[in-house]
Amino acid sequence: MKDQIDPQIVALRTLQRQDRRLTVLERKLRLIPKRLRELDGDLAKLEKMLEGERATLEETRSFQGRQQSQLQDEEDMVRNSKQKMGQVKNARELNATQRELETTRRLITTRTEEISKLQSAVRATEERIAKMNAMLTELRGQADAEKTRLAAEKIRLETEITRARATRGQLTKGLEARLLATYERIRQRFADGYAFIAAHRERCTACKMQVPHVMYMQLMRGNEILACESCGRMLYWSGLFPDEEAKLEPKPKAAPGDEHEGGADAA
Ligand SMILES: [Zn+2]
Repeated sequence: MKDQIDPQIVALRTLQRQDRRLTVLERKLRLIPKRLRELDGDLAKLEKMLEGERATLEETRSFQGRQQSQLQDEEDMVRNSKQKMGQVKNARELNATQRELETTRRLITTRTEEISKLQSAVRATEERIAKMNAMLTELRGQADAEKTRLAAEKIRLETEITRARATRGQLTKGLEARLLATYERIRQRFADGYAFIAAHRERCTACKMQVPHVMYMQLMRGNEILACESCGRMLYWSGLFPDEEAKLEPKPKAAPGDEHEGGADAA
């Protein structure tokens, strides 16, 4: 059967395999800018978080500063009140000064607690900032390494693609113009880049739909290219290419101890 295969089938299948390689390479190349954007995005996100923490730190510190200067004022007030105590002329003035002193002391207690809380908050924020800074340094290092790797990968892919396109150009020369045009037209329609595909066990291996038996018989003769009735891709019979046919076959699961084909005779 093999010597009867239409050489156009062989040539078109070779082109399809080359195109598939090209599709994969081109997809990989297209993913590189996306990956670069992701890396920059991750860095920017962390930088923004860090910026937020720094703003919080600054606000807390300035609030703490204001509280401390108010505390100083209140401490001055206490000193003044104490001085006044020595100069009061009567009981009424003494009472008023004592009340004033108590009020200020309560304020001082509350404010001291508040300042202590603010100091804790500042320390916690400083710790978070230190951790985030370390993370950012690490992430920048990783991103730089990844960018270097991607730059090399880009060059490698571009070189391979150029080479693959040249090979493709050579392969198209062996094809009839009308067949090539049909192939190109169908290929445009499918994201997977498959326009010429095997029919195996009476099914199209791209869309998995049944191929009518009569049509399958025609394909088996290896001298015709027919369109899948479901997806419109061009079909060939897998059996024309034993390597491919073997790959399409489900892998037999070897049972333990079952080393011989055909099984044992019934006793
Ligand atoms: Zn199909």
